[in-house]
Amino acid sequence: MLPDIEKLLELQVADKEIRRLQDEVAALPKRVAVIEQKLAGTKAQLEKAQSAAKGDETNRKKFEANIKDLQARISKYRDQSLDVKTNEQYKALLHEIQFAEQEIRLNEDRILEVMVNVEAREKEVKAAEAELKAETAEIEKEKEDARKVTAEDQKKLTEWNAKRDGLRQGISEDVLRQYERVAKFRGTGLAEVRDHKCMGCQVMLRPQTYNEVRNGEKVMICESCSRIYYYNPANEVKPEQEVVTVTGRKRPRPKADAPQAWFYRPDYGEEGEVLLVFTNSGGSSTRRIYEMHTGRQVGGVLQREGPYRQAFPEDLTEAALRLNGHWEEQEIDEWGSEIPSNALDLLHKDILAIRREHRAHKDHSTSPAEQTAVR
Ligand SMILES: [Zn+2]
Repeated sequence: MLPDIEKLLELQVADKEIRRLQDEVAALPKRVAVIEQKLAGTKAQLEKAQSAAKGDETNRKKFEANIKDLQARISKYRDQSLDVKTNEQYKALLHEIQFAEQEIRLNEDRILEVMVNVEAREKEVKAAEAELKAETAEIEKEKEDARKVTAEDQKKLTEWNAKRDGLRQGISEDVLRQYERVAKFRGTGLAEVRDHKCMGCQVMLRPQTYNEVRNGEKVMICESCSRIYYYNPANEVKPEQEVVTVTGRKRPRPKADAPQAWFYRPDYGEEGEVLLVFTNSGGSSTRRIYEMHTGRQVGGVLQREGPYRQAFPEDLTEAALRLNGHWEEQEIDEWGSEIPSNALDLLHKDILAIRREHRAHKDHSTSPAEQTAVR
């Protein structure tokens, strides 16, 4: 591996750790703020319960005062009743007395209601007080923890920053600039090449590019995502794993008579690697061509008389690999000038599966079933 790439890998670790520490430091005050907000809520609840208790007390006093007034009124009526001259006057006073007594009972009932309330209220106040105490303790602990973690993080940040500065000095200037520019926009500046693919953007590498990356003689950049490539032989898919994949899940064969057919051509004139899709409809057929790595359409839609096998014989050379894949023509029209990434991914996976099959076929003359039996 090139020394620049080795250092970049270390730099990437440092960058990630620095970002993680910075995020952690930034998140701590937010966590404290959340608890403080909860604390304020509990305080408000306690105040509400306390003021409700105070209101009960006021009400009780008011009802007791009412009763005193009514009792005074009754004794006044009783005094007056001694001096009445007519039966009607006596009846009217008696009526007033009865009414006042009824009012006294009503006020007594209300006092009882308040007394029952007071018990519930006291519980509420006590619970809110206990919660407030617990939360106050929690926030103190949380603040203390936050202070400690922040101090530790700051110390680690200083160390990592020093390490990062040291690493940066050892890396060629233009390579470092490329790494930082891409990392700023994509989050990472490096991409592993594994199984012929850029793990940063999932694009397949041309065989020559792949070999160059594996040889590790110069710094190479992904044409699609601009990340700097690195290759780790330990992560490459082992032939045994491939056999398992091939035997475990056999690649389905596309139907020969399907009305739509996708092909991969590695050698399509100036374009190099392309994907072709033919669709039969009515008495004619259409052809669309896409750049294999980016999925960008090359040229327009070509329509010819007859089914595609007869209409486009010049495209269906020996090198053309038939792929799995089917989308309605209307959907393909809606794609516009680019195959969407999920569809492109499926087509790439199928190309990969074909290559694996070919390789497994070449590497293992014995059948996978026989190999399993030997082990
Ligand atoms: Zn890439």
